[in-house]
Amino acid sequence: MRVDCRRLLRDLAMDAAELLWPTRCVGCGAGETLLCDDCRLDLPWICQRWACPSCGAPYGWLCCTECRRDWLPRSCVCAMGFRDTAARIVTIFKDGHELRLAPVIAAALACALEEAAGWPAEDGLPRHDLKSLDGICFVPATAKAFARRGFDHMELVARELSQITGLPVCDALLREQGADQRTLGRDERACNLEGRVSLAQDVAGKRLLLIDDVATTGASLGACARALCEGGAPAPDTCAFARVW
Ligand SMILES: [Zn+2]
Ligand SMILES: [Zn+2]
Repeated sequence: MRVDCRRLLRDLAMDAAELLWPTRCVGCGAGETLLCDDCRLDLPWICQRWACPSCGAPYGWLCCTECRRDWLPRSCVCAMGFRDTAARIVTIFKDGHELRLAPVIAAALACALEEAAGWPAEDGLPRHDLKSLDGICFVPATAKAFARRGFDHMELVARELSQITGLPVCDALLREQGADQRTLGRDERACNLEGRVSLAQDVAGKRLLLIDDVATTGASLGACARALCEGGAPAPDTCAFARVW
């Protein structure tokens, strides 16, 4: 019988890690699961029926005060508010190196997109239509963040979402180093990203779903959407796991 040594080593390493750092729910700390049923049910989901079809804010379907004047994406779907367990999921995933949360975040995006498919965007077409898309791209981490974490967190989520939807990942965007967006205000965020996003491949004519973890002012999604449009892609559909408002 042949033994798959790499698999055996990986399983042993996983067992050792579980002994040293037992799996705990990111919401309540209960054991043995990353997100327990109670905390999953308690997530601050945004009802897509009432959300702004353009920027994804939770209550702007009729009249939105959150939309940016220079907002380019065709639609934006945000799965939940950035608070409580949702905020902890993002922090523990990105900065706590809990990579097993990538499929949890991807599943939340897929869930919100499915709900949004039943509601129109500003152009009257569904906010999400899987059949109309050619691929998934993601807001890339800066080189500095990549070096600090050792992974591009949204690339991991894009790959998980690709498994769920069957859409290919389109690793199309590059981001040069600017100041950390989290330290900046609304206008500073937009300026910080201006001209810092470029294309790594041809996207002309590609209809893309652009994803990010947190939408605060929409500056990152907006700058990436601009780069895609300048490369000849139609205005992308966008989706974020959590929304700050
Ligand atoms: Zn829990
Ligand atoms: Zn809006």
